[in-house]
Amino acid sequence: MISLSGLNDKQREAAETVEGPVLILAGAGSGKTRTLTYRIANMVDNLGLPSDQILGVSFTNKAAKEMRERVITLLGSRKARKIALLTFHSLGVRILKKEIDKLGYHLNFSIYDQSDQISIVREALKHYHADKKFDTKDVQSKISFLKNAGITEDDYADSHHFNPEDPYSHATEYAYRYYQEKLKFFNAIDFDDILFLTLKLFRNNPDVAKAYSEKYQYIMIDEYQDTNTLQFELVRHLTVTHNNLCVVGDDDQSIYGFRGADITNILEFEKTFPGAKVVKLEENYRSVSSILDLANHVIKENKKRRDKTLWSQKKSDHIPLLWAMANMEHEAEVIVEEVVRHQGNGGHLGDIAILYRSNTQAPPIEDQLRLSQVPYTIIGGQKFYDKKEVKDLMSYLFVILNPNDQMAIRRILNIPHRGIGNVTLEKYLAKSAEDNIPLFEALEKYPGIDPQRSAGIVKFVELIRKYKQVFKTYPLAQSISTLIEEIDYLNFIDKQYDNAKQVERRRKDVMYFIESSERFTNYYKENADLKTFCERLLLQDSQDKEELNDGEDHDVRKNEVTLMTLHSSKGLEFDTVFLVGVEEETLPHKKTITQGEDISEERRLCYVGITRAQARLIMTYCKQRKLFGKDMPRFKSRFLNELKNKDLYREQDRTTFGHLTEEEATDYKKSFFSNLLGSLDEE
Ligand code: ATP
Ligand code: MG
Repeated sequence: MISLSGLNDKQREAAETVEGPVLILAGAGSGKTRTLTYRIANMVDNLGLPSDQILGVSFTNKAAKEMRERVITLLGSRKARKIALLTFHSLGVRILKKEIDKLGYHLNFSIYDQSDQISIVREALKHYHADKKFDTKDVQSKISFLKNAGITEDDYADSHHFNPEDPYSHATEYAYRYYQEKLKFFNAIDFDDILFLTLKLFRNNPDVAKAYSEKYQYIMIDEYQDTNTLQFELVRHLTVTHNNLCVVGDDDQSIYGFRGADITNILEFEKTFPGAKVVKLEENYRSVSSILDLANHVIKENKKRRDKTLWSQKKSDHIPLLWAMANMEHEAEVIVEEVVRHQGNGGHLGDIAILYRSNTQAPPIEDQLRLSQVPYTIIGGQKFYDKKEVKDLMSYLFVILNPNDQMAIRRILNIPHRGIGNVTLEKYLAKSAEDNIPLFEALEKYPGIDPQRSAGIVKFVELIRKYKQVFKTYPLAQSISTLIEEIDYLNFIDKQYDNAKQVERRRKDVMYFIESSERFTNYYKENADLKTFCERLLLQDSQDKEELNDGEDHDVRKNEVTLMTLHSSKGLEFDTVFLVGVEEETLPHKKTITQGEDISEERRLCYVGITRAQARLIMTYCKQRKLFGKDMPRFKSRFLNELKNKDLYREQDRTTFGHLTEEEATDYKKSFFSNLLGSLDEE
């Protein structure tokens, strides 16, 4: 028997009501997810309900995994095995794997990722002769948006999203059709299709929907405030034969409006499912009261919301901090310094999260962590060192360091174009096998295998030889910049991509790479050589591979710092949270400000970030940021500035005295002078 004594009265009431609709509407950290897990354990262990009839849906993979771990802790893995604890998407894949043939696909379909999607859209736009005019990524996002709104390629032209006056709408319509046809031809689906096609399946085959509704008799949905129209409709189909549906959520944490999430799903739950039991939770068990106070005051400024009272019994001396930093580099340095201090005091790195509004804020922090040899992991989002441009440049460095690195040579031999195609490469590979010499030696020895290609080969070999010397003679960062200039890599990017936006993105990554080598050079000074730099890059790489091999079922948090966007942090909690860039034009994001959009979703994001912290919250902003090569002044976020009560957080200027806070600086000065006086005394 599972005891429900780990729940308060209201939570227990929700956990014990297993028949009929239930809505748990409550603020962050009030135990919504905990209630769901106990509810599941109660059903299986105390009520003896068949575990394979239970379906629990979370929003992200990480959240689903955490939910599974919590259920296993309560029930043990044997009893928990058959419970379906999934995300909407993994549920969709499960269903499509059995049923997609009813939509004319084969059951062994593949799932395309974003790079596949983009290349098909690019192809479509080329066909339409619009690839120079429109951004491929924009069109692809638009298609994705339409799918998430449940609008098919046939419906698009009749929808209010279509503007007959606008060439962009027409190009999108063409691309959307082309794209769907191509995918079906390849027997592939994309990420958005998972729900889109599952719904189509249910709509076209009510008997199939009915069968799944009978299969899953008890359904629970976490983070319900972020369900979109598609997901809502799926839920309706899954509950056609019963109404045992328990949803939990918080309207203040609705942060996926930009992806079509519809907050009315939760606000009108009682209308859709009449007779629903509504449970409100008010005690927050996660955060100390000072952090919660700040969160409550920040979110209060939103006009349209259900007012809630959320309180915490946890008292602490900690007051949330706001650190003003000089610039992004300084910000990264000070944060990592603090992380290292925590580690030095015996603290666990798994207790720390560094949260930011957008992935572009990560590289300087990643760099600094790497320099200080602090293990970290990035949730969602691509690690900077996985990007194509960065990998190209890394490969150059690898070849210069070690001309025998065959994989790296193959990657860059024709980047930028030297007219050396696969046919020529094959010939050299054959030659290197025949003579039993490394590929690079084959290139050196036989420049004329393909007479027309020989100029390119000679140039490549000479370039590598030359830079071996350059890197020995000049500082690392300078050598890298010169190399990038010499191979005219930026120009290569310009030619590779269709439009200004993409070019700008890639160019930025190259710039980040140079900056990162500068940071490395500043840090290691005369020891900053190519070998050490490459070793660092490789080390990072092998850490990532280990991550991939990670077993499914380990539930101990690893001893590494977690980096992620505010969006990915939903539902999670950490002892210490760094909320980076609480700054105008970062949070709220520039896009929302300049487009005059409603910033309440940005404020909710800020609220989500603050409420991830259990014991310690450190927010930061930069006083200056480099924009278009110029240092521009920056200001702290309106979300803090608009608060009337200035005691909710403490602002500390970290720029004035090196990296010391004002208090530390005063202490430092005091001890400095007393030492000085002491030494004078001795004389
Ligand atoms: P979010 O809105 O951020 O998803 P939530 O409402 O889902 O938050 P939980 O993650 O379930 O909140 O709970 C927050 C923390 O409080 C967890 O560590 C949980 O174990 C703890 N907690 C919740 N309820 C209780 C309780 N009744 N007794 C002790 N601890 C509790
Ligand atoms: Mg939760």
